[in-house]
Amino acid sequence: MAERAYFDWNATAPLRDKAHEAVIAALALTGNASSVHAEGRAARHLVEEAREKVANLVGAEASNVTFTSGATEANTLALTPALQVGSRKEPRDILFVSAIEHLSVLCGGRFPAGRVEFLPVRHDGVIDLDAAKRCISKAKRPLVSVMQANNETGVIQPVRDVAEIVHAIGGVLHVDAVQGAGRIDCTIGELEADLLTISSHKLGGPQGAGALIRRAEIQITDPLIRGGGQERGLRGGTENVAGIAGFGAACAAAASARQGDAARMVALRDRFEAELKVATPEVVIFGGNAPRLPNTTMLTVPGLKAETAIIAFDLNGIAVSSGAACSSGKVQPSHVLAAMGVEPALARGAVRVSLGWSTTEAEIDALLTAWNKVVSSLLNKQANAA
Ligand code: PMP
Repeated sequence: MAERAYFDWNATAPLRDKAHEAVIAALALTGNASSVHAEGRAARHLVEEAREKVANLVGAEASNVTFTSGATEANTLALTPALQVGSRKEPRDILFVSAIEHLSVLCGGRFPAGRVEFLPVRHDGVIDLDAAKRCISKAKRPLVSVMQANNETGVIQPVRDVAEIVHAIGGVLHVDAVQGAGRIDCTIGELEADLLTISSHKLGGPQGAGALIRRAEIQITDPLIRGGGQERGLRGGTENVAGIAGFGAACAAAASARQGDAARMVALRDRFEAELKVATPEVVIFGGNAPRLPNTTMLTVPGLKAETAIIAFDLNGIAVSSGAACSSGKVQPSHVLAAMGVEPALARGAVRVSLGWSTTEAEIDALLTAWNKVVSSLLNKQANAA
């Protein structure tokens, strides 16, 4: 295959070298982490070592980290009425989620449909705090779920402000930090979160592992998967030792490289956007005026159709996406852009470019060249056909 440039890091990142090594080493072991013999203890050791590394990335106690199959499962585990806060056993009576959450949160987890309410966002993609306050403050025992940063636009959310609103009335705050982790500070203390979700494959670990992290005083009393009592009874099933070991190694690597990586990514991303604005002045960057992750640009030019553009980029050696990978294949415009009040016709042209720690200047050159070629030829074709 000809040389390619990968700009879909928000969908999944490449495996970091350290994570690759950890996965291979773990696959060579035989033990079940629940067995008491030496083989079992060796597997257990890898799981607990990884738990420490995950805990370290998010500034939590290792004993409050629960491994899951990924962020979708961690979100579903967290979003339950059956949360105990200290000695308070009453269930959460309502769930608030922002309108731009990942679908695994937007669907309300384990709350009945009638007990889920949506918090609006402003045109720039940031949660509307006044509206959030009005909604949340009238609730009795709410659980609120907001993301640290949006997977499509990269817009960073005012999570601490939401935390203040939630905690003022004794509510519980869950934060989906999947896209922030490894890119910006995602510690539970910084975010003032009670529950936090992260995913292995977004930060350079293998796919199929993730974690829910909680503050010690928050207990989940209805596990999603019951069985052999693994993960302190919160997640039955033999641990995915290799996945977990790789996840832990990725967290450690991400924690130590984060600041340098972020500075490099933001310089490349800003250069891309600046050159793009010169080449295509009519470009629209969604959430472009809001605080954003260092690696994400969601953009379009009026008249573009994302499905055709993505195929054209692919044929030119460039991997970009039309929004959440989970919903690609479906033609409807993104719920994130709809919540931001973007016109459906414009939203249908939205292309997401997401960078990572190994993105190079040469790849940005290739992306700009492809952009100019693909976009002008598509717009010309469409104009001729009209
Ligand atoms: N939350 C967010 C913000 C995401 O971007 C994703 C992945 N697209 C998920 C949750 C789901 O993660 P996983 O693939 O680990 O289930």
